[in-house]
Amino acid sequence: MTLKPKLYGLVGFPIKHSLSPCMHNAAFSALKIKAKYQLFELEPKQFRGFLGSLKQKNICGFNVTYPYKEEILAFLSSKSLGVREIGAANTVIVNKAGKLKGFNTDYLGFTAHLKELKLKPKKVALIGAGGAAKAVSFALAKMKIAQLCIYDIDKFKSLSLFKKLNSSFPKTKFDVVSRLDGLNLQDKDLLVNASPVGMRLTDPCLFTPADLHPGLFVYDLIYSPLETKLISLAKEANLNFSNGLGMLLYQGAFAFKHFSGRQPPVKIMQDALLKGVMRK
Ligand code: NAP
Repeated sequence: MTLKPKLYGLVGFPIKHSLSPCMHNAAFSALKIKAKYQLFELEPKQFRGFLGSLKQKNICGFNVTYPYKEEILAFLSSKSLGVREIGAANTVIVNKAGKLKGFNTDYLGFTAHLKELKLKPKKVALIGAGGAAKAVSFALAKMKIAQLCIYDIDKFKSLSLFKKLNSSFPKTKFDVVSRLDGLNLQDKDLLVNASPVGMRLTDPCLFTPADLHPGLFVYDLIYSPLETKLISLAKEANLNFSNGLGMLLYQGAFAFKHFSGRQPPVKIMQDALLKGVMRK
């Protein structure tokens, strides 16, 4: 009798652009693990039904992305400390009894990539206050940065993130601004774009050369395209910069460890990601 391969995947909508399958399938194949990672693109009305069909489909774990990172919380039997503190999960393990345990590897991925870049920011400007921004701000606050200034077009979201952070991390000074220029990049050493602005070719560039200064590192979480207008601006100004591929890689590597119980083959996952990007 041949065993059915274990199934893993990414749950979200829309996710056709995702590079996660190439990264995870390369890792499964390198470690000779009989498993497959695929996309589960679900409309909101399909989400609950999907969660009810996990055992039947032999789905043993999955990543969660927009717009379900918070909605999934209600279905988790247990939550890692990171999930409880951030209020969002991006990795879920299904146990033998069909119960779900949630993790947040986005914040671990961002932290690991900053470490690889040897970045120790002190004053940070953050654009966005959604799912990714929550993980990033949590990672930065855990690093005990001195100041985090947050801007989101939806002030309700930035204020709610501010309240959560402010009550949990007394060592960091948090500010919310209602205009982009309120971020005052001149006194920051890191700018993080955790908004979707830059994903579409028609998106504007949020800053001008005059907003930048030589000590600013520009980190855009977007990885498709690899070079957003913000990254081009940073390049032209001779600043250090990163796109979102490093964070994607490391969040995937931490998720893979949860899925397989094995050390992730990070280099193989990185090569697979780069190949995937080239094909796009
Ligand atoms: P999200 O939950 O929708 O959050 C994005 C936030 O940005 C929302 O609050 C949105 O407000 C706000 N926003 C939209 N336009 C803005 C603008 N012009 N100025 C300021 N804020 C604006 O999305 P997400 O899941 O956090 O993802 C955000 C980005 O990060 C996406 O590009 C995603 O691909 C990327 N990401 C990368 C990684 C990685 O591993 N590299 C991981 C996660 C996400 P509204 O809701 O009002 O529009």
